[in-house]
Amino acid sequence: MNLDNGVISLTDFDVVICGGGMIGTAMALRLAPLGLTIALVEAKQPQAFAINQAFDLRVSAISPQSRGLLEQCGAWSMLENMRMCPYQYMRVWELAGFGDLTFAAKDVKVDNLGYIIENRLLQLSLWHNLAQWTNIELICPAKPVQINRLAKRYQITLDTQQQLHAKLLIGADGGQSVVRQSCGIGVNSSQYEQACLVASVATEIGQQDITWQRFTSTGPQAFLPLPGQHGSLVWYHQAEQIREMKDWSNQQVAMAISAAFPTELGSFSVLNKGHFRLQKQHAQAYTKEGVALIGDAAHMINPLAGQGVNLGFQDVACLAQLIQTALSQNQLWHSQQVLQQYARQRRLANGLMMTTMDFFYHTFNNQRAPLKWIRNGILAGAAVPAIKHHVIRYAMGQKVLPKPFAFLSSG
Ligand SMILES: Cc1cc2nc3c(=O)[nH]c(=O)nc-3n(C[C@H](O)[C@H](O)[C@H](O)COP(=O)(O)OP(=O)(O)OC[C@H]3O[C@@H](n4cnc5c(N)ncnc54)[C@H](O)[C@@H]3O)c2cc1C
Repeated sequence: MNLDNGVISLTDFDVVICGGGMIGTAMALRLAPLGLTIALVEAKQPQAFAINQAFDLRVSAISPQSRGLLEQCGAWSMLENMRMCPYQYMRVWELAGFGDLTFAAKDVKVDNLGYIIENRLLQLSLWHNLAQWTNIELICPAKPVQINRLAKRYQITLDTQQQLHAKLLIGADGGQSVVRQSCGIGVNSSQYEQACLVASVATEIGQQDITWQRFTSTGPQAFLPLPGQHGSLVWYHQAEQIREMKDWSNQQVAMAISAAFPTELGSFSVLNKGHFRLQKQHAQAYTKEGVALIGDAAHMINPLAGQGVNLGFQDVACLAQLIQTALSQNQLWHSQQVLQQYARQRRLANGLMMTTMDFFYHTFNNQRAPLKWIRNGILAGAAVPAIKHHVIRYAMGQKVLPKPFAFLSSG
């Protein structure tokens, strides 16, 4: 339509979401029933699922609360038909310490504490539901090359030479968010000294219903169960130690893991591996006029307790609910007032989780005696049934921290 600068088509939308990963797609599916017109712009087409495919390296521990959102989006039944692994137990202990704590689903009267699911399958199961909404347009592969604010709207020019106009622009484009940068929103960010090695493994032990994490002086070692005799291992260590293993063969990595990991792992072979730097990053604002940030575009958290995606899904639920309320009260649903309510609620909750993870990171990676006592105190304290109940519910995304742990929310 508009032929300036080679732009060949111009379309008006209520909402443009940049980033069609797990969080951006869930956002589109939660807004579609409200009757808004939505463009979902994604840079990469995910690879289709095949049953004999190797497990992806990137997996997430999905909380029962996030399952609820995935059900609302219509994605859960497809996930059950692809692959996922529910777990009923979560064990946390310290090498050379007294603390050893096991949480069980039955303690809080639920069937499962969570589900380990490959990130790509989460995305695919959500994408599968896009087709049923005529008010969602998926534009993929595409990336914004220019974002401007014009006459109370956003104008987004894509590398496909399409131009989109939006009343509300949502940045769901991950940690390096182009939306966030284009809108001039800064971040507070720092890199942890530790990095992590993630390995997809085949285990001699049959399918497991437990996820465990052992804390050691060099960093935690974690096991996340996958369907059949499979699992995902996460080995946190000093960044340079992880870097050293980068070019090792699967067999060499397996030998190093065998020597370091607890015997609970049993015999195993490494199928695939990769390494990740650990970064903490919090956007200085979650909104600006006509724009909102969700998921990793707004916050990146230490993956220690597997909460990143779950927090992103909570952002989605919160923003969708506020927009729905505004629409039902005939208010301007994309007003700064609505967006600021979103920012207030989610920035506080996400900040609290980030502080909690930092507290565990610094307390459990330090061999000084007073911190060792604090660690043992935490694990012993969390074993007290009433506190344990709160801690499980917090990890499941259902509660705020119990009073004895409330000091973690400061700062
Ligand atoms: C080692 C590790 C383990 C983790 N384990 C867990 C866990 O167990 N549980 C958990 O809850 N979280 C976990 N996380 C965190 C989790 O992976 C992230 O929080 C999650 O991926 C964030 O999702 P997102 O959709 O916001 O961003 P991303 O997953 O980064 O998705 C962003 C999407 O936007 C697209 N995109 C990017 N730029 C553009 C652009 N310019 N234009 C168009 N599209 C664009 C990308 O292609 C992608 O599809 C872990 C993280 C790490 C590093």
